[in-house]
Amino acid sequence: MSYATKGQRDSDVHVYSDGDYLHCLNCILDANFDTVSLDTYPLMLAHLAEHQAAGHQVPYAALERLQKEAAVSPSVAEVSRLEDAGLAGPFF
Ligand SMILES: [Zn+2]
Repeated sequence: MSYATKGQRDSDVHVYSDGDYLHCLNCILDANFDTVSLDTYPLMLAHLAEHQAAGHQVPYAALERLQKEAAVSPSVAEVSRLEDAGLAGPFF
């Protein structure tokens, strides 16, 4: 699932989940534009705060959804499991 797409909704970042990790695709904070992969919501929220501190645009809706999911569990895999089981969310 996608949280933010580069070039859409005034976003400079492309953030998506594969159910186990959150990825910042071709991260513009990385010198080689490598994808940053993190397994908890707090780590990705901290990463996106770094983008904002650097002046990059991060959609509010993406942050809001990540914060709602983080309130369920910090673990991306755990929230994905609960969402798939219909026990949490949807958060969008
Ligand atoms: Zn990034």
